[in-house]
Amino acid sequence: MSTYLSFDIGGTKVASGFVTLPQPLNGEQEPVVTNRCEIPTEASRGGDDLKARIVALAAQQLERASAEGIAIAGIGIAAAGVPDSETGVIVSATDILPGWRGQHIYDAFAEITDLPVRMIGDVGAHGLGEASYGAGRNSDVVLSIGVGTGIGGAIVMHGELFTGAHGVAGHAGHVPSALGQGFLCSCGTREGHIEPVASGTGLKDLYNHRCEELSAADKPAPVSSGAEVASRAAAGEQLACSVLADSAHALGECIGGMGNLIDPDVIVISGSVVKAGALWWDALRAGFTDSALALVKPTPLVEGELGGDAPLIGAAAAIDRYVRANHMEPSKA
Ligand SMILES: [Zn+2]
Repeated sequence: MSTYLSFDIGGTKVASGFVTLPQPLNGEQEPVVTNRCEIPTEASRGGDDLKARIVALAAQQLERASAEGIAIAGIGIAAAGVPDSETGVIVSATDILPGWRGQHIYDAFAEITDLPVRMIGDVGAHGLGEASYGAGRNSDVVLSIGVGTGIGGAIVMHGELFTGAHGVAGHAGHVPSALGQGFLCSCGTREGHIEPVASGTGLKDLYNHRCEELSAADKPAPVSSGAEVASRAAAGEQLACSVLADSAHALGECIGGMGNLIDPDVIVISGSVVKAGALWWDALRAGFTDSALALVKPTPLVEGELGGDAPLIGAAAAIDRYVRANHMEPSKA
């Protein structure tokens, strides 16, 4: 049985916990996350400051483990931005995390511990968690799509995260969709990506845009979130229903295209927007069926099972795989 120290570094908070991975041979099915704690990211303090506070948190967590007699076999990190898993350097990061790009994370951890450390992207970690221990377990090829504030994705093949030539693979929000034309995407384009009309923020923007086009007489008040679009749709408001259905249908078409390219065993959908209700899911599946090839159409689209723990569990899965591949298990050290 192996327990890992995991981190999930996001734009607003850094979460940490001890993740004990299940031993299927012993009949265990689910990973267990304990000793959770989190600190605010406070991104405005800069990348150096953030890195220092993460390492201090790691030192605290390792002390806690040793005080409680818990053997930690390695450290897994799910990081915002595009990390290089080989060198431990953050290759790219958005303006949400100023000064995060260029940080040497493995070097910083090496100053406080000899334990092996593995870092992957947070969206990839989410997908790896779901593929290994969540809705995609027992499947060989898993496409994981996260639909929340933004839209991200991950491709997991035979337990391994596929990251592509530049660590960019899986950017599911930045695929073309006619519905997105004219809407500003987080990547900077207005040419028509799916994210700015199908993420939680996108639902809000699409609704408010269509709202503007209505005549004053039948114009509803603008919404402040995607969740509000979902709740208005649940209450039967026509504009909200059509926005939710059009958005989900367009996203489903995009996912159908990804399905045709990858041919996964299962497609796992997670994130806040999956709670938008049956109307959203039905439209998503209809869009998927419209664009998927005959052999791809039956691919199940299922909801993720791990919730907010997915990145911590995926980070643990990444370090577990690394430790095993390099025969670094504590018992063999
Ligand atoms: Zn984009």
